[in-house]
Amino acid sequence: MDLANDAADDTFRKDVRAFIAASLPEDIRARTRAGLRTSKDDSQRWHKILAAKGWIAPSWPKEAGGCAWEPARTYIFEEEMAMAGCPPLSPFPIKMVGPVIYTFGTEAQKAKWLAGTRDGDMVWCQGYSEPGAGSDLANLQTRAVADGDDYIVNGGKIWTSYGHQADWMFALVRTRFDGKPQEGISVLLIDMHAPGVSHRPIITIDGSHILNEIRFDDVRVPQFNRIGEENKGWTYAKFLLGNERASIAFIPQSTHLISRIKEIAGAEPSGDGGRLADDPAFRARLAGLEIELDALRTTNERVLFDVKAGSAGNGGAILKSKGTFISQALSEVAMEAVHHYGLPWVMEALYPGWNLPPIGPDYAKTATPHYMRQRANTIEGGSEEVQKNVIAKQVLGL
Ligand SMILES: Cc1cc2nc3c(=O)[nH]c(=O)nc-3n(C[C@H](O)[C@H](O)[C@H](O)COP(=O)(O)OP(=O)(O)OC[C@H]3O[C@@H](n4cnc5c(N)ncnc54)[C@H](O)[C@@H]3O)c2cc1C
Repeated sequence: MDLANDAADDTFRKDVRAFIAASLPEDIRARTRAGLRTSKDDSQRWHKILAAKGWIAPSWPKEAGGCAWEPARTYIFEEEMAMAGCPPLSPFPIKMVGPVIYTFGTEAQKAKWLAGTRDGDMVWCQGYSEPGAGSDLANLQTRAVADGDDYIVNGGKIWTSYGHQADWMFALVRTRFDGKPQEGISVLLIDMHAPGVSHRPIITIDGSHILNEIRFDDVRVPQFNRIGEENKGWTYAKFLLGNERASIAFIPQSTHLISRIKEIAGAEPSGDGGRLADDPAFRARLAGLEIELDALRTTNERVLFDVKAGSAGNGGAILKSKGTFISQALSEVAMEAVHHYGLPWVMEALYPGWNLPPIGPDYAKTATPHYMRQRANTIEGGSEEVQKNVIAKQVLGL
């Protein structure tokens, strides 16, 4: 599979480019281009524009209202979106919970959740991690005890991205309390507005409120909301994690960041009074990362080929591990490129509506917050050490 040399893919790429040029609202494009924080509103607006075009669910099957595109097309689509300044979309509805619902849900469950999830009318969060259950996810302790037609849920989740904005959570809960931990887990879809659900914000090192601690105190959840068989949730959870990891390679985002760093380096001075873009050490570092990114793109094509041939393999762990390394390294280079202009810390400048003059060039204000945010890449979606364990055992057979 060669994404660069397929004529049909080339035509498709042009169509995507033309659609984005005509449909992405200019105010959203300007904010994303400037590296400002994506608001829920921007993300939802773009989600709905794509849904109206029928392009919001690239890899979903047609019967679920998706595009049923080949993996390579989905990749091209995502690359074009990142390069054109489209706001990032939440992975939860389209890449994570949607496929679980259409693969393992009943017809009644599909009727209740699928269209709203696809079209952006239901905002989702992921309820996997708990204080004692991150890498060791099977240790999760949030309990769901059957009571008539319902479960009563007690316990809590942590690091829940966008939990404060979500309508629904796809949660892993414990429904059996003896035997192997993996054999007592179920997937429940929990209404985040139900009585007994509360959240506490967690402010991260970059100053933003994305993460939350969620509490469940005697929350009543209909048994109807359980996806698949009781105590078989581990199987569905692993299916979903594979999708999550493959989507944390940041290839389009890193490609975009490289072109942004080149712009910055063209404008910033180097130590000897020339342009940073002509500094041999800087050029060598950036070129090294560009080569690593090219190699990752090829690996991604191989993984896409495997997916097409019906074996997803463990490509997600490789893509996540290498992709997050590159993305973090680029965020360092971007910060070095703006040098002392990276020091001022004006959080408000990252949000729409801030209209005071920036300290230093406009492009400098996002470098340090971006660097801070990228530190989490090697933790979220499964830590780096755990990815290396997966690669060692399941890819290399060690
Ligand atoms: C920004 C961000 C967003 C997140 N969003 C969500 C979300 O929306 N929903 C959700 O459910 N979770 C979310 N998470 C949680 C994330 O999945 C966990 O943080 C991650 O799985 C690691 O778990 P932990 O934090 O409990 O660390 P631990 O599992 O306690 O790990 C601590 C350290 O020990 C190492 N370690 C653990 N086990 C092993 C091992 N077997 N071998 C070698 N080293 C090991 C780890 O690599 C790590 O360095 C998010 C996390 C972050 C940072």
